[in-house]
Amino acid sequence: MAIEISEKTIKHEFIEKINELSGQDIYKCFQCGTCGGACPMSGQMEILPRKIMRMLQLGMAQSISELETGWECASCHSCSVNCPRGIDLARVMEAVRLLILRKNINKIEPSRLPEDVVRELPQIALVAGFRKLTS
Ligand code: SF4
Ligand code: SF4
Repeated sequence: MAIEISEKTIKHEFIEKINELSGQDIYKCFQCGTCGGACPMSGQMEILPRKIMRMLQLGMAQSISELETGWECASCHSCSVNCPRGIDLARVMEAVRLLILRKNINKIEPSRLPEDVVRELPQIALVAGFRKLTS
């Protein structure tokens, strides 16, 4: 019984953290799927944004941290402007990434980027990538 309460607390804290970081209320999502239909990256995503929202509502922190979906999000805000519940899903995706980055886990290691990639990419793309993918 004690373990069950502890797990509930952890889930609650995770959901509160996502809401705090994103400034959104993930419980407002009613699973309509409009976000996935508007998302230009949905064809490449491991799971659709609607499912991420459901997993967040269920407090599935570990499973979400193992998915690529948060990183595959292009932060284009198409989902946000189309959500009938007014949820800024792009900010929720950012919160998902932040929770991982705040554990000092980088998605990419700048020092390991191949020289030709660093030479050829526009500086602004590198800076934007580092801001999104490193802690
Ligand atoms: S569009 Fe909004 S309400 Fe609909 S599934 Fe996506 S986040 Fe939830
Ligand atoms: S912000 Fe991310 S999840 Fe939303 S539509 Fe753009 S790529 Fe898709």
